[in-house]
Amino acid sequence: MAVTTPYTERTDEQRAICEMVRQFADEQIIPSAEHYDHEDSFPEPIVEQMKELGLFGVTIPEEYGGMGLDLTTYAMIVEELSRGWISISGIVNTHFIGGYLLMKFGTDEQKQRYLPRMATGEIRAAFSLSEPELGSDVAAIKTAAKRVDNETYEINGTKMWVTNGLRAALVFVLVRTDPSVEPKHRGLTCFIAEKEPGVSENTGQYAGVNVPPQIKKMGYKGVESTELVFDGYRCPAENILGGEDTGLNKGFPQMMDALEVGRVNVAARGVGIAQRALELALKYSQERKTFGKRIAQHQAIQFKLADMATQIEAARLLTLRAARLKDAGERSDLEAGMAKLFASEAGRFCVEEAFRIHGGYGYSKEYEIERLYRDAPLLLIGEGTSEIQRMLIGRKLLERNKL
Ligand SMILES: Cc1cc2nc3c(=O)[nH]c(=O)nc-3n(C[C@H](O)[C@H](O)[C@H](O)COP(=O)(O)OP(=O)(O)OC[C@H]3O[C@@H](n4cnc5c(N)ncnc54)[C@H](O)[C@@H]3O)c2cc1C
Repeated sequence: MAVTTPYTERTDEQRAICEMVRQFADEQIIPSAEHYDHEDSFPEPIVEQMKELGLFGVTIPEEYGGMGLDLTTYAMIVEELSRGWISISGIVNTHFIGGYLLMKFGTDEQKQRYLPRMATGEIRAAFSLSEPELGSDVAAIKTAAKRVDNETYEINGTKMWVTNGLRAALVFVLVRTDPSVEPKHRGLTCFIAEKEPGVSENTGQYAGVNVPPQIKKMGYKGVESTELVFDGYRCPAENILGGEDTGLNKGFPQMMDALEVGRVNVAARGVGIAQRALELALKYSQERKTFGKRIAQHQAIQFKLADMATQIEAARLLTLRAARLKDAGERSDLEAGMAKLFASEAGRFCVEEAFRIHGGYGYSKEYEIERLYRDAPLLLIGEGTSEIQRMLIGRKLLERNKL
């Protein structure tokens, strides 16, 4: 059952792209998501079609072979992909963040070298901040890069939870380059670490970066989450994001900027999964009968549907507002935090309500809602937990309203 997502103020181009991606989700993603989820296998045929549709180059400028679209349009696309399956949006999302980092901070040479192949999906990108001992506390990063000669740094340490960690050819990795500076976040640098996609033990020019077997997860299957072990990995100084002169020890503000768009992106995923949960709930509640009538005729069920639809609408508006502010060149850290917080919680809420509406069948792997129930909690964690969003929102509120 298709329920419309009536964006106000959509351009003709946005409407056409969203319809195309929705059709792609309805025809290609939703029918096979169950298979890939249950097998926890990479949805290669879907990814190949996404390359053909140009979905890896949505925000990459046309001069580099991308579509050159804005964050707002990207958020609309991510909603549609996530409505299909959030793992599919996960395959694009880290790539999008890598593209954003390059476009905003990369040297001309770095842009020329990577963006054209990223736009087609020939190579894909991951980003890596988290480590086994830290996620929220990014400034505590221990993985370190040391200069070994004029042209090279050596990276040592273990990264954790790298989405697309195995299949990515590029990892935008945040590491410590100054161990003594205070505050600690001033000693971090973003390297563009190249590796062989799909290879666990890299050799030759990429020797020293290995990918252990993927982490087994509750949901968000199909897309791999891995550790990355750097052990004497040699990275050219020219692979410092923005170049050594500009980028050394500037990785923290670069990554925080990228996380701002990343939060809009996770918010859009929350809207997408919530939208799908509502569709499933609307369908099931008009089919299932109890006490002589469709359960949708019970007021308690209608209230659930009403709360879900209202939360989705609010989450979508917050998401688009944060995206539009960023597109207009304004700071949107507060708004992106609010959108991420509200939309990811709305995703969890709507999925749980839809699950309840399905009664016992919601617990069966025969029903799509079972997958959504395992997928939704990820959105509460990635790109900063709900607690971290609240901290950020509170801090920004005080900053903007100083007495
Ligand atoms: C499937 C998956 C994919 C991921 N993909 C990536 C990726 O591609 N790249 C990447 O870099 N990371 C990735 N992550 C990591 C993710 O960003 C972190 O898990 C997240 O930031 C939380 O960090 P943590 O797990 O270390 O929790 P912790 O930081 O240890 O937090 C534990 C708990 O304490 C709370 N907490 C922490 N500090 C405070 C505080 N100051 N005040 C109040 N409460 C606090 C947190 O909200 C949380 O509830 C991924 C995670 C998952 C599960």
